[in-house]
Amino acid sequence: MHKERLDKNAYSTMNQGASQRAGRKKDMKLNSICVQGGYTPGNGEPRQIPIVQSTTFKYDTSEDMGKLFDLEASGYFYSRLQNPTHDYVAAKIAQLEGGTAAMLTSSGQAANFMALFNICGCGDHIVASSTIYGGTFNLIAVTMKKMGIEATFVSPDATEEEINEAFRDNTKLVFGETIANPALTVLDIEKFAKCAHAHGVPLIVDNTFATPVNCRPFEWGADIVTHSTTKYMDGHAAAIGGAIVDSGRFDWMAHGDKFPGLCTPDDSYHGVTYAERFGKEGAFITKCTVQLMRDLGAIPSPQNSFLLNLGLESLHVRMKRHCENGLAVAEYLSGHPKVAYVNYCSLPGDKYYPLAQKYLPDGSCGVVSFGLKGGREAAGIFMKSLKMAAIATHVADARTCCLNPASSTHRQMNDEQLKEAGVPAELIRISCGIEDKEDLIADIAQALEKCEGNH
Ligand SMILES: *Cc1c(COP(=O)(O)O)cnc(C)c1O
Repeated sequence: MHKERLDKNAYSTMNQGASQRAGRKKDMKLNSICVQGGYTPGNGEPRQIPIVQSTTFKYDTSEDMGKLFDLEASGYFYSRLQNPTHDYVAAKIAQLEGGTAAMLTSSGQAANFMALFNICGCGDHIVASSTIYGGTFNLIAVTMKKMGIEATFVSPDATEEEINEAFRDNTKLVFGETIANPALTVLDIEKFAKCAHAHGVPLIVDNTFATPVNCRPFEWGADIVTHSTTKYMDGHAAAIGGAIVDSGRFDWMAHGDKFPGLCTPDDSYHGVTYAERFGKEGAFITKCTVQLMRDLGAIPSPQNSFLLNLGLESLHVRMKRHCENGLAVAEYLSGHPKVAYVNYCSLPGDKYYPLAQKYLPDGSCGVVSFGLKGGREAAGIFMKSLKMAAIATHVADARTCCLNPASSTHRQMNDEQLKEAGVPAELIRISCGIEDKEDLIADIAQALEKCEGNH
């Protein structure tokens, strides 16, 4: 029953056959997809997506189950690989991004690792933007390096020529973030996609901060999109999670020598050749599900997928308010005498304003970073004096939160190292929630009053 309620045009591939049926919401616009995408209940069925809290699924005959294992029939057999609750939510996210297939993972870290590892292994090479989330930087530069995967980091501001120089014969993909966390740089997606495609490899974009409400990277040439759904998609600091979405456009077979995992038989899966059997639209997510999720097991709980879906139902409404508050706070800070600088790509005059106008014309996100003229000491006093904004290692929450990386996440670094990492000692990152902007600004104003002036 459940798999038949999956919406067409956005499916988790093991169930693509079954999901061809329910196509009536295919042409919905983005806001409607947030609310109604992914799941269409039948007559007398639950209005809200069912939480299928079951590790396993029952079959009448071994032959029935055998067909599932051979990927000849679609259906569920064990929740480490797939579960209906995840599939409803993955289908919604695929629809939002305009992709052909999607899957959920237990965290954003798992999503990025599995998306990368799905097409590169020992002896391969990655080109990545240098301003990416610290966790992803560690993943690529330290952990994946131990697996024999090398990486070259290029500035998001690099010219095409400079990016092209980073490629090697064994380069398998290019990676960047639409809006980088916490650097708040904006990726020139078209530029990076052009370089990737010129070398016969896909561009993978982490779209966590922008969300599909503000940017759909596939429209600009990205091939795979990843998310930490922990951030705006959940939006309530309730559930860690991740997602991988395929545009269905990258032609793996045209570059078969680079992607043997997709283009030659998988001995661990009865000799299936994913790119042949599932085509451009389904190969990437099918392989990632039946091979990597099977072996690595980073699956969310159905309960968390349900919570994620609740978040998605209001994503379009919340993003609007996050952006409105972010812009109001950025404008206020940029006019304040004790503030040395403000980073916010939707603020006219910001270095990334022109790119934001192109890729994020309706708004960027609620995260603003800034430095105080009083330096590290003033940052400490400012943070301590905030009343509404909580100090938390989190962003993209409905509640405003604030962080001084130098005294928390980047505490082990000295001032010199902090500068190099793009998080100078005085930098404060404020993630504007969806409260009244007047209250946020009043809180910031009273905290700034307590800080010393212009050292
Ligand atoms: C938080 C974050 C991640 C990691 O996600 P988790 O859900 O915390 O594992 C990856 N990328 C970006 C851009 C993030 O902000």
